[in-house]
Amino acid sequence: MPQGNKRTLEERVVDAAEAALERQHYVSPVDVLVGISLLPMGNVEAWRRGRIDCLEEVIQGSPSKISRAMETFWRWAKQKGLEPSEAAYVRQTRGGTVDLRFSASGDPDIERVFRTHWVSPALTERKRQALEQRAAKPPEAVVFQILRESACSECGAELVEDSLLFMDGQEPLCLGCAGLEDLVFLPAGDTALTRRAGKGSSRKAVVVRFSRTRKRYERQGMLVELAALEAAERECESDAGDRARQRERAAAQRKVEDREFTDAFAQRVLELFPACPPAEARLIAAHAAARGSGRVGRTAAARRLEERPVTLAVVASVRHIHTNYDELLARGTDRATARERVAEKVELTLAAWREGTENDSQ
Ligand SMILES: [Zn+2]
Repeated sequence: MPQGNKRTLEERVVDAAEAALERQHYVSPVDVLVGISLLPMGNVEAWRRGRIDCLEEVIQGSPSKISRAMETFWRWAKQKGLEPSEAAYVRQTRGGTVDLRFSASGDPDIERVFRTHWVSPALTERKRQALEQRAAKPPEAVVFQILRESACSECGAELVEDSLLFMDGQEPLCLGCAGLEDLVFLPAGDTALTRRAGKGSSRKAVVVRFSRTRKRYERQGMLVELAALEAAERECESDAGDRARQRERAAAQRKVEDREFTDAFAQRVLELFPACPPAEARLIAAHAAARGSGRVGRTAAARRLEERPVTLAVVASVRHIHTNYDELLARGTDRATARERVAEKVELTLAAWREGTENDSQ
């Protein structure tokens, strides 16, 4: 029987690759390394913005683990019939774009391996081209609202707390020296206005500020061209009613989808465990389907209702409802020990549910 979270590297690689493929119709080595937690997303961002020289420096895990993960990934990509496509990884500087480097050695073969995206063959040529163009686009320019005084490395201007600063690689620049001084600040909050102003603005930058309490950068808004902002404001005024109706329709649609997924999931639980009480199957399904919860139910494998993720959801529920697992945790028993203590009881319940025999599981 599957044992909780103990999954092999190979399984985790395949799950990460499947999820990325479903999300974006292609998978890159970076997606996989991030997906299996060998590469923190924050480091990828820092690298794309030029604060880290080569990505290899920040990949965690032994070389043999990394190569095992990559081999599994390529085997999976070939089995799936995905097609290799070389993507450009570039970064914006004042002087134009520069290539990002993956490996410390800069070996062209290694660089190519990392740049290669594996693309779904189901995509039309046009969609595929659009995808490649999007992947080749450098990340949006970022401007930092600073918490501590700094100075422009070019003109020497003093930048007091709360000023906006642009980082060109490691060099802090005032907005004037970064060529952004004519842009206006649009605070975050109005999605449609932000999207439209951003779309209409040929030059723009995201404004972020570090939150000391949450220990991460948070989006404050965007710098855009004044003309683009004004045009976006006019557009938003004219179709505010339409957009409100659209939002309602989308919410209703999500509800239907959630319900369909929950029904199918409960059905699948009963297929695998015919003697599971239907109300309990429903409960397990609703729990697994909870939107945005990051639970097992939201993974790609679970959406396809594969046996393993469905069984894991059942195991988790049986632990809570039919054993004293929660009590053990409350008394301070560590998770692994508590799981071990209740394993037999869980196994008996599952066996009874599989057989379709009556089971007194209290
Ligand atoms: Zn300056």
